[in-house]
Amino acid sequence: MKKVAFYTLGCKLNFSETSTISRQFEEKGFLKVDFQENPDIFIINTCSVTENADKKCKKIVKEAKKISPDSYVAIIGCYAQLKPTEISEIEGVDAVLGAAEKFRLHELLGDFAKEQEAKVLASEITEARSFNNAYSINDRTRTFLKVQDGCNYGCAFCTIPMARGKSRSNTIDSVLASAREIAATDVKEIVLTGVNIGDFGIVEGKRNERFADLVFALDEVEGIDRFRISSIEPNLLTNEIIEFASQSKRFVPHFHIPLQSGSNTILRRMGRRYLRELYEDRVSKIKTLMPHACIGVDVIVGFPGETDELFLETYNFLNELDISYLHVFTYSERANTRAVEMDGVVPIKKRNERSKMLRILSEKKRRKFYEENLGKTFTVLFEEDVENGKMHGFTENYIRVAAKYDPMLINELKVVQLDQINEAGNVEVLEPEMVYERH
Ligand code: SF4
Repeated sequence: MKKVAFYTLGCKLNFSETSTISRQFEEKGFLKVDFQENPDIFIINTCSVTENADKKCKKIVKEAKKISPDSYVAIIGCYAQLKPTEISEIEGVDAVLGAAEKFRLHELLGDFAKEQEAKVLASEITEARSFNNAYSINDRTRTFLKVQDGCNYGCAFCTIPMARGKSRSNTIDSVLASAREIAATDVKEIVLTGVNIGDFGIVEGKRNERFADLVFALDEVEGIDRFRISSIEPNLLTNEIIEFASQSKRFVPHFHIPLQSGSNTILRRMGRRYLRELYEDRVSKIKTLMPHACIGVDVIVGFPGETDELFLETYNFLNELDISYLHVFTYSERANTRAVEMDGVVPIKKRNERSKMLRILSEKKRRKFYEENLGKTFTVLFEEDVENGKMHGFTENYIRVAAKYDPMLINELKVVQLDQINEAGNVEVLEPEMVYERH
C-alpha cells in the first residue's frame, strides 16, 4: 500500500480541496499518513496570497525530501497555477498541476513513477471552467464546504482570479447532497466556503441560481446544527440574507465582510464595488436586527496612494464602526496586478506601523465585543483540543470560550453563560455543572 501525505498552505478553500483530494487517494487504495511518516508521495497544495510563497514551497519540498529521499512530490494549488515553470525547477519536484488539473492527479500522473524531468501540467487559467466539489473532514466538529470557486471582480491587488479563474459554482441540489453526507458523519457545523460566495449561482458562465436561495435551502437540512458564511462581499450581502439570518434556525449571527479600506479614494483605486457608506449601512442593518452578531472585517494597509491622511480615514472609520475584530493584511506587491503599476508606493516601514495600529484596534474591538456579551447565554460547540486542562469552543456569534476539560463535551453543543475574560483573552464559562443541555 503506497503512503501519501498532504501539506496545505493558505485558505479554507485549499483545506477543503486537499481534504477531497486525500479522499480520492484513499478510495484508490493509498494510505494517508502524516508528513513525517515516510510517505511515498507528497502532495503540496500552495497559495499565491501567502507571503514568500516561493520560499515556503521550496522549504516544504526540501523537508519532504529529507523525510523520504525517494518520494514523488507533486505541487498543486494557486501558486502552481501562477508559476508552474519556476516551481518545476525546484529540486525534488516531480510534477506541477494547475487549477484545471489538480483534481485529476491519478488520471494525469498514473502510478506516480518518477521521470527524468518534472512534469508541468498547468493549462491556461481560462481552461479552469468546471466546478469541483470539495469539503474538509479533518476534525469532527466543523467542515469547510466549498460552494463556489473563482472570481469575476478583478480587484487591483488580487491574483486570485488569475490563479483560480472565473466565478463558477456548485448547484443548490449538489450542495444539499454534500451537506446531508456531512450530517451523516456527525459534524455539527458547516462553514460555507468559496472565493466570492455571494456570487454563487454561475454554472458554465450563466447565472442559474442565487446565494440567498442556497441559504434558504440549507437552513432546512436536518442533522447540521450550524451554518456559518465564511466571508461575503458587502455589496452581495443583501437585506434578504441578513433578514433571513436573523430568523434562521441554523445560520449563525456571524458575518465576515471584507472592507479593505475605509477611504473611498482608496476603495476606488482598488476597484472595489462599494463605498464606505454601503459598508456602514450593512453593519448597521446587521446590528439592528441582531445586536449580539459578530462582525469580522478584512482590511489592507499600505495600498499605493494610501497617504497618512487616507489611512487615518480608515482608522477612524473602523474605530467608530460597531464591529468585533479585524483581519489586517499588509499590502505587498504581486506580479501582474494593476496595483503594482500604481504610484504612491507606501514605504514598508509605514505599512508595518499601520498594520500594528490596526492590530491593536482589533484587540480593543474584540475585547469590547466580548465584554458586551458577558453574563449572557449562548450555545458553544466544544472542540477536541486541550490546553492546560482547558477545552475550547465557539459560540454561535464567534466568541472563543474556555471551559474545564470534560471529554463528554467534545463535539457537543451546550448552552453556557459567559462569565469573564481570562488572561489568554478567551471567555470563561461558569463551572461545568452550570452547563446544561440545549432544549
Ligand atoms: S473580490 Fe476582489 S479580492 Fe476578492 S477574490 Fe475577487 S478579485 Fe480578489
